[in-house]
Amino acid sequence: MKTAVIENNKIVLKNAEDVKLDGRKGAIVKVSGCGLCGSDIVKFVHKIAKDGTVLGHEIVAEIIDINSETEFKKGDVIVTSHHIPCGKCVYCRHGNVSMCEHFKSTNIRPGGFSEQVYLSEEHLQNVAHLKPENLTDIEASFYEPLGCIVRAVKRANLLDGDNVLVVGLGSIGILASQALRAYGYNVTGCDLIAERIEFLKSFGIKALDVRKLPDDYMADCIFMTSGADRAIDTALKYVRNGGKILVFSSTPHDESSYPNNEIYYRELTVLGSYSPSPADLQDSLDLLKSSGVIVKDISTEYKFDEIQKAFDDTMSNKIMKAYIKVKSDD
Ligand SMILES: [Zn+2]
Ligand SMILES: [Zn+2]
Repeated sequence: MKTAVIENNKIVLKNAEDVKLDGRKGAIVKVSGCGLCGSDIVKFVHKIAKDGTVLGHEIVAEIIDINSETEFKKGDVIVTSHHIPCGKCVYCRHGNVSMCEHFKSTNIRPGGFSEQVYLSEEHLQNVAHLKPENLTDIEASFYEPLGCIVRAVKRANLLDGDNVLVVGLGSIGILASQALRAYGYNVTGCDLIAERIEFLKSFGIKALDVRKLPDDYMADCIFMTSGADRAIDTALKYVRNGGKILVFSSTPHDESSYPNNEIYYRELTVLGSYSPSPADLQDSLDLLKSSGVIVKDISTEYKFDEIQKAFDDTMSNKIMKAYIKVKSDD
């Protein structure tokens, strides 16, 4: 099989041994395609992932071999996530599932940018689902990224009709805006790039240039999908006293000063949200299936041997999000 590995700061296709069950429980899947996540870019650019690593986790795939107690069978087309919480540790008991040691240590192997992948029995039992028939492969590949957003929306714990300002309208901002609307909040999106503003408007959601936000606009919650210093200034300017700032992005340089007095005197709540629980993923799939969130036209498709270009185009903001079609047409 072919697999895409990191080698000398490049992503290169290599031939590798086929993945086999070899008596293990679980399934071998043939990957149709895999979304390129912002976290893959971070791991690649900041050299967090070593040479030989196979990135990718937002897969849509067909089961080609299986030994499982679940109902899945050969030929099923599925979506899955990569991490599974233990459900028992201090983090899991407090709802911080993405901090769980077991969650961090579980993964799909070797990685999503690979023609074949091994899914453990735990994956099949907790985070894999049949791909809904009304979704294309690309649409279904949003199962995991949208799960992260569903989690963030739940963590914000807002009231019906609350004003939410989404700062940054990349793919995550577009998805978050739609998810927040689906949950009944009054969403406004802002960015500096005209095309992105227009794109959010095409979903019937208010969007404007951040420099045109009225001075008296007040948000109950700010959704930070950008980690830029300017975005933090925007958040502090428009969050109402007593409001919340939800941090949902990493920042390339972590020197941003901690706004102690703003948080203290204005009684602000600042909270982070990272990776989804199995329940968040289930809700994500329901949102995709019911068109509560529409993901059409967000991703640009690349062939497997164009994977380096997909990384380059994402890093240079030429595209919003990439989907790598791993399976060849023949
Ligand atoms: Zn992801
Ligand atoms: Zn745990």
